[in-house]
Amino acid sequence: MAKKSGVTSRTLLQRLRDTLAEDGAGQERLDHITQLVAQSMETEVCSIYLRRDRQTLELCATEGLNPEAVHQTRMRVGEGLVGRVAKQAAPINAEDAPNTKGFRYMPETGEELFSSLLGVPIQRLGEVLGVLVVQSKEPRKYADDDIYALEVVAMVIAEMKELGAFTGEGEAMTAPHQRAHLFKGGSAQEGAAIGVVLLHDPKIVITNPIADDPDIEKFRLNEAIDLLRLNVDDLLNASKSADKEQQEVMEAYRMFANSRGWVSRLEASIDSGLSAEAAVEKEQSATRARMSRVPDPYLRERLHDLDDLSNRLLRLLTGQGRSASDAVPENAILVASNIGPAELLEYGKNIKGLVLEHGSVGSHATIIARAWAIPMVIHAENITREALTGDEILVDGDQGVVHLRADETVVGAFKDKVAMLTEAQKKYIAIRDLPAVTQDGVQVGLQMNAGLMADLPSLESSGAEGVGLFRTELQFLLRNSMPKRSDLANLYARVYKASNGLPVNFRTLDIGSDKVLPYLQPEDEPNPAMGWRAIRVGLDKKSVMQMQLQAFIRAANGRPLRIMFPFVAQFDEFRDAKALLGKVLRNEERLGHVMPSDVKVGAMLETPSLAFAPDQFFEMCDFISIGGNDLKQFFYAADRENERVRRRYDTLNVSFLTFIEQIAARCDLFETPVSFCGEDAGRPVEALCFVAMGLRNLSMRPASIGPVKHMLRRTNLEEARDVINEARASGEQSVRGALMKWLNGQ
Ligand code: PEP
Ligand code: MG
Repeated sequence: MAKKSGVTSRTLLQRLRDTLAEDGAGQERLDHITQLVAQSMETEVCSIYLRRDRQTLELCATEGLNPEAVHQTRMRVGEGLVGRVAKQAAPINAEDAPNTKGFRYMPETGEELFSSLLGVPIQRLGEVLGVLVVQSKEPRKYADDDIYALEVVAMVIAEMKELGAFTGEGEAMTAPHQRAHLFKGGSAQEGAAIGVVLLHDPKIVITNPIADDPDIEKFRLNEAIDLLRLNVDDLLNASKSADKEQQEVMEAYRMFANSRGWVSRLEASIDSGLSAEAAVEKEQSATRARMSRVPDPYLRERLHDLDDLSNRLLRLLTGQGRSASDAVPENAILVASNIGPAELLEYGKNIKGLVLEHGSVGSHATIIARAWAIPMVIHAENITREALTGDEILVDGDQGVVHLRADETVVGAFKDKVAMLTEAQKKYIAIRDLPAVTQDGVQVGLQMNAGLMADLPSLESSGAEGVGLFRTELQFLLRNSMPKRSDLANLYARVYKASNGLPVNFRTLDIGSDKVLPYLQPEDEPNPAMGWRAIRVGLDKKSVMQMQLQAFIRAANGRPLRIMFPFVAQFDEFRDAKALLGKVLRNEERLGHVMPSDVKVGAMLETPSLAFAPDQFFEMCDFISIGGNDLKQFFYAADRENERVRRRYDTLNVSFLTFIEQIAARCDLFETPVSFCGEDAGRPVEALCFVAMGLRNLSMRPASIGPVKHMLRRTNLEEARDVINEARASGEQSVRGALMKWLNGQ
């Protein structure tokens, strides 16, 4: 028989507060809490398990289980029902625990007597610190009110741990912040910076998790929300003059700030006995837990916006943390779990680097960091747990590595690297307006890759000769609905204006794989990188492609137009896409739109198959751009996003270089202009090898143009080719060793 719930969280919290007010050591307090919860919820057992480290939970207090097991019983996160609560950051309510999937019996605790179990995570801001469990002998399905009450207690325990209430009671309760740490993440933007940590989201300490009067708390909450809304409106007004992309993001923000559902959830928590700030934090923890479970990147970004708002609200309620008017300290490196675009913009360009625990190369924050050209590392796991504001930090955006509190030798070596980069920058600026010509007179065209309006000022500052690849999908990814044709036409017209007569290769929408548009039904594919993506989507969903082609034509408005289709794997796809463009051009002319003065249609060579296409493809194609990122992953059958396999295969591997050489030769035969626009084009040694293999055009990140140009200008190409050919003939797997030796000896 299911037993009825008898406790409300409010009464439980009141009793808990009295217990917490008593003096006593950490262990004593934990013991009191377990007694109190067991009594109030009329269960035989209440236990607190705390995280010892990332992998292990330790039984730290219990009422009802064998006291001898305290600080002895341990389990892995994910192991047994308790471990599963920690792993999933979600409650488990098992009426018949021993027969519930995942149950694991711990004999030393004496828990064989108990049949029902309810466990909730003890979490703070999405980080699971432990698990709070109640167990009973009688089969009992705990009611929603019980779950809620236990969650509220868990939340209070989480706050106490943060306050250091239990420190000193065992290793499971301490957190060191002194050791040197190396974080291996991913690179989102190259460069190196040395500075001090500025924690974006410093741990806000809540001293009053339990409140007496819900009306006062609701009043405080609503006052703070009103202020928050005013702040968001101010931000929105300030962004009016800014980019459309930024404005759209801010509008989404405003929508959340005005959401009634959000406010009612907060008020419900206050009714259960929490203070206003504790209610916000409880909701924020739930958002963060959801964030880690949502696979859809767009939804994750939206949840992150909500998290961002909760942070602001907490700051307003507690008066802690940074406020927008605080000056950014000198050499600040911003460290965050993740960050919203609005918050990043608030820091302004004064920050010297950005390190995130999460984040992605396509996120809003990355886009802004790229525009600011600051080094950025993503996926620096657990850095916000280790770093404290003011710690010395070294960010290596090239390697995707971060050193926290590094020792003197590492700092010394890093300083040398930063100094070298600064010196190199001066060198690159000096050659910005000079051609990329080798010592023996071979000239190479260097263009830049772009995708956002924010990228375009780099066209002038980098000395690029045009935009070799304009990734149009980034604009689609930033929106929450399909953009209108007129919006796109306006945007592309602005690209034309900013490019000031220099050529721009507009690549049609390259979605699919990791680039998922929330408003286009995603396909559930086992292997999206080899699935329905890019031109495959374009040809199957012609209306979207047609709309984009019309926008290009209207934006060109009589100027030359260069379009390239991504991920062409066979001739037919190119032929069909080109025919569609022809049809759209005729229609547009009929509608009275001004025709482009010239139309060039290219294909991206990103699958090995296209290199072996019929001759007619090369004759029909106006230009080819080698998408080396994809080409390399399919050439080696090694996922470009899987660091483990990606790093195995060197771009300077003889097989890959020979393949590039053959593509260059085949294009040469048909006089089809060919360039390389994958990331490798921006690496000086790789770029030199591509030129040695016969390529004469490269397109890269703007910041790479200087280093690549410098490499080409200092090198005799004929001699480099001899070194490469000799290495190829020697049976070496990669020419890198021989080439580096030669370059270093020069
Ligand atoms: C490539 O694959 O090399 C390329 C430039 O396209 P993307 O990186 O956008 O897939
Ligand atoms: Mg590609």
